[in-house]
Amino acid sequence: MTITALELPTDDAHDWLTDRCDGALDDARTLVERLKQGTVTDVLATWNAVQIELGNAAAAASLFSEVHPDAGVREAADEAAQRVDDYSTELGLDGELFAMLDKAEPGDDPDAQRLLDLTRRDFRRAGVDKSDVDRERLRELARAELTTGQQFAKNIREGVRSIAVRPEQLAGMPQDWLDAHPAGPDGTITVTTDYPDSVPLMTFCADRGVRAAMTHERNNIAWPANDAVLAQLFGLRQEHAALLGYANWADFDAEVKMIGEGKEIRTFIDKITDAANDRALADKQILLDRLHQDHPDVEDVTAVDTAYYSELVRKEQHDVDAQLTRTYFRFDRVRQGLLDVTGRLFGLEWKAVPEVTVWHADATGYDVLKDGEHIGRIYLDLHPREGKFKHAAQFTLVSGVDGVQLPEGVLVCNFSRGLMEHDEVVTLFHEFGHLVHHVVGGQAQQWNRFSGVATEWDFVEAPSQMLEEWAWDASVLATFATNDEGEPIPADLVARMKEADEFGKGFMARTQMFYAAVSLGLHVDRPEDMTSYLQQTQRKYSVFPPLPDNHFHCSFGHLDGYGSGYYTYMWSLVIAKDMFSAFDAGDLFDQDVATRYRDTVLGMGGRKDAAELVRDFLGRDYTFDAYADWLEK
Ligand SMILES: [Zn+2]
Repeated sequence: MTITALELPTDDAHDWLTDRCDGALDDARTLVERLKQGTVTDVLATWNAVQIELGNAAAAASLFSEVHPDAGVREAADEAAQRVDDYSTELGLDGELFAMLDKAEPGDDPDAQRLLDLTRRDFRRAGVDKSDVDRERLRELARAELTTGQQFAKNIREGVRSIAVRPEQLAGMPQDWLDAHPAGPDGTITVTTDYPDSVPLMTFCADRGVRAAMTHERNNIAWPANDAVLAQLFGLRQEHAALLGYANWADFDAEVKMIGEGKEIRTFIDKITDAANDRALADKQILLDRLHQDHPDVEDVTAVDTAYYSELVRKEQHDVDAQLTRTYFRFDRVRQGLLDVTGRLFGLEWKAVPEVTVWHADATGYDVLKDGEHIGRIYLDLHPREGKFKHAAQFTLVSGVDGVQLPEGVLVCNFSRGLMEHDEVVTLFHEFGHLVHHVVGGQAQQWNRFSGVATEWDFVEAPSQMLEEWAWDASVLATFATNDEGEPIPADLVARMKEADEFGKGFMARTQMFYAAVSLGLHVDRPEDMTSYLQQTQRKYSVFPPLPDNHFHCSFGHLDGYGSGYYTYMWSLVIAKDMFSAFDAGDLFDQDVATRYRDTVLGMGGRKDAAELVRDFLGRDYTFDAYADWLEK
């Protein structure tokens, strides 16, 4: 049977979306009823069918809510996503349904056994086996955690602060930034704490007083309002975890990650802190020396100076001219280069299908072919527009299920249309790594739960972080990074770019571990005085001393989304560096390694624990060594 790709709507997106989401929800309800009545012969297959329906509905809703040009469609998509979410929560607490699933027979299929084990765990973690009173409280807690998290985010969004500066205080700022910030009637320029305003200011503004003033404002966003909101959020999470029998939120959260237990997070943070120490102190000394050339009396490097002097050191000591660099990265050539590089690496062909219907003229569809066979579809939607998702991410449209549906995924980014920054090229490779994982991991999957990027959350970044390496390799870049004269980017320029990029990696790792320790500690230690806890934690983990009046936890948005798990990005990076060490640095296209990686890691989706996938690829357990070597370099 040939399976065709999903056909997207032309001008009736609203109806299409309602059909797709509510049709799937209706089908899921019918299947669940039959499961509960005990009239189905194959319980697991029926549960799989429910998951396919819910997955399809959630995917279409979440994609359209972020990319559709029509605000009405985006709103309808948000509402549909909410209905799917409500129904999924309801299922998780449905004792009758659980009783049927719990007695399902997996036969001798190890994947079915794993599916059953994980399904039991999902239901247990939802609280299905708790008393009526406890389940009602769990429902209330979930709702309260959601609204408290929304309040936290709202206070950050609405807590924007600003400083007023005089034009002569803005020496060093790029011309396009200055053009976008004209002086007001009183002759001063208002600079807000929003990233497009404050990040360039902290990076380029030569006036130390201005940077100090901005640092103070940034450290006080949503203070004091969010201090109380956070205390409430951590209290709710603690009660939630305790009701389910866990000591704290970190233990509850870590159970479904590679790291396994909350206490291991602390061990990991300490290990990275230690490994990064020498490089962090060496690079910090370079910053301090450079700072002393301008300000001999300043005692130490703080948040006021880190971004500014890091940029200055990169420019003065590594000789990278960003204006020159970008001439090698014209968007069209980069996009084609990405497709050629990844096609060659993974033995795939991305074939443009210009006739396919898309939601906006900027989006392009490609069929994915392997050995001439159609195995999936991807869409690239890579430029900004009003009302579109503001970051860069891979969205699932369809999860691949063998004999049922082909995997389809969408890359949603916001790149410039002409010349790109090299940073953007790296981001493109990173996000495409998620897309490849989704498509390759969506082959030969019987169970929806294991399809695509279905591994533990602290592993999912590793394949993408590893693919970034291809955007840093001079011989790979030479295949597509050519200027308008047709000259490839010089290898020595790539080497300098890399050196510049890696300056500060030690102290940045220490700063990341400070954030990770805050994310963990506020959930586990639950200090009454979060401000002083922050100061102590910074002294222990960061190489930069804390500043007075710092309440940055109030605007540390990841405390909601990541919870106690901010360590995950670094955890994935350790594994990415280890997996990359299996490739031949002199030939990143070595087919044996690439194919083995594709089949043992990406192709398995969630059919095994990530640690096992990595072991199958490396032929040994993952270690810390490659990451530690990279830090030392
Ligand atoms: Zn990512």
